[in-house]
Amino acid sequence: MRTVVIDGPRSVRLETRPDPALPGPDGAIVAVTAAGICGSDLHFYEGEIPIPGPVALGHEAVGTVVDAGPHVRTVQVGEQVMVSSVAGCGACPGCATRDPVTCSAGLQIFGSGVLGGAQADLLAVPAADFQLLKIPDQISTEQALLLTDNLATGWAAARRADIPFGGTVAVIGLGAVGLCALRSALAQGAATVFAVDRVGGRLERAAAWGATPVMAPAAEAIIAATGGRGADSVIDAVGTDASLIDAINAVRPAGTVSVVGLHDLQPFPLPVLPCLLRSITLRMTTAPVQRTWAELIPLLASGRFDVDGIFTARMPLAEAVTGYAIAGARSGEQVKVLLTP
Ligand SMILES: [Zn+2]
Ligand SMILES: [Zn+2]
Repeated sequence: MRTVVIDGPRSVRLETRPDPALPGPDGAIVAVTAAGICGSDLHFYEGEIPIPGPVALGHEAVGTVVDAGPHVRTVQVGEQVMVSSVAGCGACPGCATRDPVTCSAGLQIFGSGVLGGAQADLLAVPAADFQLLKIPDQISTEQALLLTDNLATGWAAARRADIPFGGTVAVIGLGAVGLCALRSALAQGAATVFAVDRVGGRLERAAAWGATPVMAPAAEAIIAATGGRGADSVIDAVGTDASLIDAINAVRPAGTVSVVGLHDLQPFPLPVLPCLLRSITLRMTTAPVQRTWAELIPLLASGRFDVDGIFTARMPLAEAVTGYAIAGARSGEQVKVLLTP
């Protein structure tokens, strides 16, 4: 099978490897029909997260079950499924809450060196009953692919941002996760969403989706626009020192900063005293992917909540190198790349 591999900064290639074996009697093999390139893949691509050796990339996949172990109960060979990007053992008290982050065996993420990569023809999925969900009829392939990571993350970012009904929210970073967070904040009761980025095209897209565009850094403009108060909730979907400082500066006293952008491994200089004196709540979240599905699938199926327009480029898996170049450019025209094996 073919799989996208990275072995150093910007060094991505398509490699042929042996087909994966069933990962135990509770595992399944999924023939991938669509895979996303995620902002977190770009941390490997741009060399911010060092890798010990070649890593098979990709953690967002939908596809067809082509093999399932004898203990798999909830999906069958031939069914179309989505694969949670974050995996748990499926059997412990933590996984019983549907949040793989709380798995007592520790969470695993596809395409980061331990499990296989989703940007491939085939993906081996352990504990398939926990990781896989048959795609409901009303859910499109692109919606299902966003449910494996970016929408679950944006939704969780908003849920953990303590958004008051009628509240004011700022979303910093208008890539796929930020755009999902923007729509989630509106769906969760925000009256005003400030959409913050440095790229004009991305600000224009967010404005078209009902947000108030603000060029980063945004704290000064947000403080001014809220009568000196600040936003009730700020979502940081970038994860740099600069974006997190901007978030802390933009939030109102007793407000919440919700971080889902992947920070690098360097320590962050947290301004503790100003945060303490203003009673800031700071939350950081890896999405409880499987748990979000019970909320998001009915909302998407109802048609009253949508994430159309997030995938802006679609290409065969064979063109993954081009896909990475497009995603890595972070232009105003492109948001997210979909690869089709
Ligand atoms: Zn991701
Ligand atoms: Zn577990």
